[in-house]
Amino acid sequence: MEMPESLPLCYCGNPAKLNMSWSHDNPGRRFFGCMNFGNRFRKPCRFFSWFDPPLTPPSRVVLLGLLKKVRTLEDARKRERRTWFFVLAIVTVLLFLKP
Ligand SMILES: [Zn+2]
Repeated sequence: MEMPESLPLCYCGNPAKLNMSWSHDNPGRRFFGCMNFGNRFRKPCRFFSWFDPPLTPPSRVVLLGLLKKVRTLEDARKRERRTWFFVLAIVTVLLFLKP
């Protein structure tokens, strides 16, 4: 992944921070924002500038499809883990109940 050669300055005068967008319209697209963004103690300015060019519609569809797939798999894995934990708990109880 290419990196910026020089960081733009935001309206506060600080070097801007490179972030990644996970919005529906721009998944994985990087942008510059204020480094105070997300900081509870300092107010960020409204500086915003895209670093990556806009996504082409096909790549956006592929990315969104992959993101959805990853989320589905993660959910399935969580459910599976919960099931195994339940089975293990029952087996443990049964083992201890055995005379
Ligand atoms: Zn700023």
